[in-house]
Amino acid sequence: SLEQGPEGPETPIQVVLRVRPMSAAELRRGQQSVLHCSGTRTLQVSPPGGGPEVAFRFGAVLDAARTQEDVFRACGVRRLGELALRGFSCTVFTFGQTGSGKTYTLTGPPPQGEGVPVPPSLAGIMQRTFAWLLDRVQHLGAPVTLRASYLEIYNEQVRDLLSLGSPRPLPVRWNKTRGFYVEQLRVVEFGSLEALMELLQTGLSRRRSSAHTLNQASSRSHALLTLYISRQTAQQMPSVDPGEPPVGGKLCFVDLAGSEKVAATGSRGELMLEANSINRSLLALGHCISLLLDPQRKQSHIPFRDSKLTKLLADSLGGRGVTLMVACVSPSAQCLPETLSTLRYASRAQ
Ligand code: ADP
Ligand code: MG
Repeated sequence: SLEQGPEGPETPIQVVLRVRPMSAAELRRGQQSVLHCSGTRTLQVSPPGGGPEVAFRFGAVLDAARTQEDVFRACGVRRLGELALRGFSCTVFTFGQTGSGKTYTLTGPPPQGEGVPVPPSLAGIMQRTFAWLLDRVQHLGAPVTLRASYLEIYNEQVRDLLSLGSPRPLPVRWNKTRGFYVEQLRVVEFGSLEALMELLQTGLSRRRSSAHTLNQASSRSHALLTLYISRQTAQQMPSVDPGEPPVGGKLCFVDLAGSEKVAATGSRGELMLEANSINRSLLALGHCISLLLDPQRKQSHIPFRDSKLTKLLADSLGGRGVTLMVACVSPSAQCLPETLSTLRYASRAQ
């Protein structure tokens, strides 16, 4: 578990690996599992046909038997929440090929039908963090203002998932006090867990409906839900623009686009990426991470401006933040090439 880990905010990126269970379709096709956990931090890959085994080490390795609650605990998200309450910018993102369990890990399975609730035991990291945070804030005994925004980046265009009118692409800007921000993004103040859950559902259903019309857009888009935590009341805030989020801690959850088509290559610790069909944001993210991790380049310029995603994650990845990456993989032999690419990307990010 990373919960009591020695790593403080000085460790910029922590990586957890989650192996999802075999799907019914994979089992029907008689697929073999090629992944085995060894201890709590090592994943063994046994290529079919008896090739040499390869091992990867991560902050934590969670096998297919681990529940949503296990994953929430092992990821140490509460520690990130505490840091956000102290003013840090923290990010949790899921990385992996389409179908590897990224959305399930963050938000649980989709409802099985109209009015059929998802059992609480299947709630994802996001709902669990929300419940923890609201409870924590209630017991703090100090005024805290909570706000949320939810957006999607598709083809390098930002779309507001909480917009009241018809969504149009919003520009990303930068200024000294706020850093990078999305202009005219709806940032909604909320005071209860129910209100926050409703914002999540609004965004999730808009993502799902766009997946139909935009031809699998959800696997090609990044979704960012950000919580803004300010230990001031609205009256105390000098903010001029009521739509402007207060300066304070942030907790951001990112459901990344599917990583297929983004092949990790390179050697000697360099995270070099090439893409058949370029997903600029994923490439830029990998590039920024590799520069951040290279001790010789620590002081040098990090190209956060290369994509919308890296601009919006700049404060978590750079200076005042902590980032947790949950790499998601399928155990099946058929997915092995993509799984290896995810494992390499993830192990180079730590
Ligand atoms: P992604 O977001 O990476 O494309 P999903 O989260 O949509 O993948 O997962 C693909 C399918 O597998 C979904 O039907 C999801 O409900 C299921 N699934 C993923 N992870 C798990 C898990 N740990 N346990 C049970 N079902 C899972
Ligand atoms: Mg998904």
